[in-house]
Amino acid sequence: MYARSMESAAQVAGTVRMLESRSPTTGEVIGAVPTLEPEAVQGVVDEVARIQPAWAQLTTRDRARYMLRAADALLDEIDEIAELLVCEQGKPRVEAYTMELLPTVDALHWVAKAGPKILADERVRMTQAFTLSKSGHFSYEPLGVVGVIAPWNYPWSIPFGEVAIALMAGNGVVLKPASLTPLLGEKIRAVFERGGVPEGLVRVVHGGGPVGEALARSSVGKVFFTGSVDVGRHVGEVCASQLKGCVLELGGKDPMIVCADADLPNAVGGAVWGGFANAGQTCSGIERVYVLRAVADRFLAGVVREAERLRIGDPLRWETEIGPMTSDSQYETVARLIDDAVAAGATKLCGGPVEVPDLEAGRFIAPTVLSGVTHEMRIMREEIFGPVLPVVVVDSEQEAIDLANDSEFGLGASVWTRDRARGERIARVLESGMVWINDHSFSHGACQCSWGGVKSSGLGRSHSKFGFYECVNIKMNAWEPGLTRDFWWHPYDRTLGEAVRNSAKLLYGRGEVRAKALRDGARPLLRVGRRTVRRG
Ligand code: NAD
Repeated sequence: MYARSMESAAQVAGTVRMLESRSPTTGEVIGAVPTLEPEAVQGVVDEVARIQPAWAQLTTRDRARYMLRAADALLDEIDEIAELLVCEQGKPRVEAYTMELLPTVDALHWVAKAGPKILADERVRMTQAFTLSKSGHFSYEPLGVVGVIAPWNYPWSIPFGEVAIALMAGNGVVLKPASLTPLLGEKIRAVFERGGVPEGLVRVVHGGGPVGEALARSSVGKVFFTGSVDVGRHVGEVCASQLKGCVLELGGKDPMIVCADADLPNAVGGAVWGGFANAGQTCSGIERVYVLRAVADRFLAGVVREAERLRIGDPLRWETEIGPMTSDSQYETVARLIDDAVAAGATKLCGGPVEVPDLEAGRFIAPTVLSGVTHEMRIMREEIFGPVLPVVVVDSEQEAIDLANDSEFGLGASVWTRDRARGERIARVLESGMVWINDHSFSHGACQCSWGGVKSSGLGRSHSKFGFYECVNIKMNAWEPGLTRDFWWHPYDRTLGEAVRNSAKLLYGRGEVRAKALRDGARPLLRVGRRTVRRG
C-alpha cells in the first residue's frame, strides 16, 4: 500500500497529536513535533501563497544574497546539525559532514551564483522567413508554492537542495519531512529563516503519509517527491489528475560494472563505499556488482577484506563507519532479503545482522557480501536499501551490460575501467539517469549536476539547470513591432492559399519542387507580400 509505514505513531497530547522522533541507535526520544490533520494542509499552503508574491518581486541577485546568508547560518550551526543527523537518522558522524552538510553549503553557493544566470530572460532567435519581423525571449517565472515530500535516508541534503532551488526561483515552499526525521525538517526551515528568508515562506508540515498526500492534493504548483516507487507512482497520479507537474525521485538498484582493466584497489574501495555508506540506505547505493571473470577472484577477496574492516557501532563516534539501520522495518527487510538469497543458493562471504555491545536498542547489519547470486533471486530484483553487495561474475562486457539493464530501476550506474573510451561506450548503453566512470553516486553532492532516474526510478530532474526549470513556468514572450501585417491573418482567399503552399515548397523543397514553386508562386506571393505591408 501507499504508506509503507515505517513511521512511528503520533502520540496524543491534548488535542495536538505529537510525532516523536527516536534515535535509531539508543531508542531514546530526542524530540517531538506537532502534527497536522490532513485537512489543515491546504490552509498552510494558502498562508505561504500570501507571502510568496513579495518574495517573487525581489530580483534574483537579491534572492541569491539570502541563499548566501542561509549558507552562513548553516555553517554557524554545522556541528549541531551534524549531531542531529547522527542522532535522528543514524548515519556515521563523518558522513553527516561528507554526504549531507558540505554538499548543502556548497549547493547554496552554487544556487546563488548560477541561479541568476539560469533564471535570466533568454533571447529566442526568430529565424523563419515568416517570423523575421518578430523577436522573443523566454522568461522563467515562479510557480507559486512548491511542495517537497522528503525521505528519511538523506533527510537533510535531499530536501534542502530542492527547497533552495525552489526559493531561488521565487517560490514559497511547504516541506513534508519523513516521519522518522521530523526534527531535521524543522531545522531546514530554521536555517533559511536565520538566513533572512521571510518567516512563513518555508513551512513544514508533519504527520505521515496522509499529510504528504494532502500536500500533493493541495494547490501547490509542483511536487518534488523523494521516496519509494509505490508512493511515488501514487503521488504522480494525484498530480496528473490536477494537471500539475511533479518530480519523482524514487528507488534504485544501481549496478556497478568492473571491467577486466579496472584499477582493482580503486574499484574495491569504490564498491565498499558505494555499497555500505549510510548503511546502504542510499537510493543510488551499489546494489549489484558485475565483475569480469579475469579479475573476479581478486575483486571479491578485496571487497570481503575491506568490508570486514569497517567499524560498526555508535554513529556519534568519529571512527564509526556503519551505524544502525534507521528503522526496525528496514532492518527486517534487509535481513529477509539476505536470508532469501542464501536459501536460494547464494553464498554469504561476510556480514549479516549483528548485535553491538551497549547498543542493544540499535538494529545493526554488518557489511554483507554475497556471491553466487542470480537474477532470479529477489535480492537482485528488489531494492535492498541496506549494506549488502551481491556480486555476479560475468564473461563479457556485453553480459554485464545486459544484466545491468535487466532491472525495473534506472537511477545510477557505474563503470570501472582505465580506458575512458570503453567506459563511455558502456555508459551510453546503460539505462539510467546518471553514469559514473570510476566513481559512484558522488554527483548528488555537486548541485550543478542533474539528479534523477529512468524507468521505475522516477521522472524529472532535481539539481542543475534542469532542477531550476522544474520550479518555474517557462514563459515564451514575443514582440511584433506591427509595421507589417501577418500574412496568415484574415481575409482568406485562393491567392493566400497558393502563396503559402508555394512558399513552403520554396523554403523547404529541393530541386525541381523549388523551381516549380518559384514559377507558380511568384504572382500570388507578390500579391500577398503587398497585402502584408498595406495596413488595415
Ligand atoms: P516512502 O515512500 O515511504 O516515504 C517518502 C515520503 O512520502 C515520506 O515523507 C512519507 O511520509 C511520504 N508519504 C507516504 N505516503 C504518502 C502518500 N500517500 N502521499 C504522499 N506522501 C506520502 O519512502 P522512504 O521509506 O521515506 O524512503 C526510502 C525510499 O526513497 C527508497 O525507495 C529510496 O530508494 C527512495 N529514495 C530515492 C531517492 C532518489 O533520489 N531517487 C533518494 C532517496 C530515497
